Amino acid sequence: MDREPRNNHFHIHWIKKKILDWEPFDTHADAQARAQELAGPNEIFTVEELSVKCPVCGGKAATAN
Ligand SMILES: [Zn+2]
Repeated sequence: MDREPRNNHFHIHWIKKKILDWEPFDTHADAQARAQELAGPNEIFTVEELSVKCPVCGGKAATAN
C-alpha cells in the first residue's frame, strides 16, 4: 500500500502545444488514462508530477494573503 502526499499531484503535459493541462489528478494512472482519452492520434504527452508550487493550480485555487 502506498500513501501519496496530498499536496503532490499530476498534470498532463502536452508536448506539441507546450502547455500543462489545467486539470489536476491525484495519481499518475488517472492522468495517464485521461490523457489517452484526450489525445489526438498525433498528440504527444507526458504526465508530470507537481508539488504545492504548481504553476497551473497555484494561482487560481488559493486566495490566501
Ligand atoms: Zn496543479
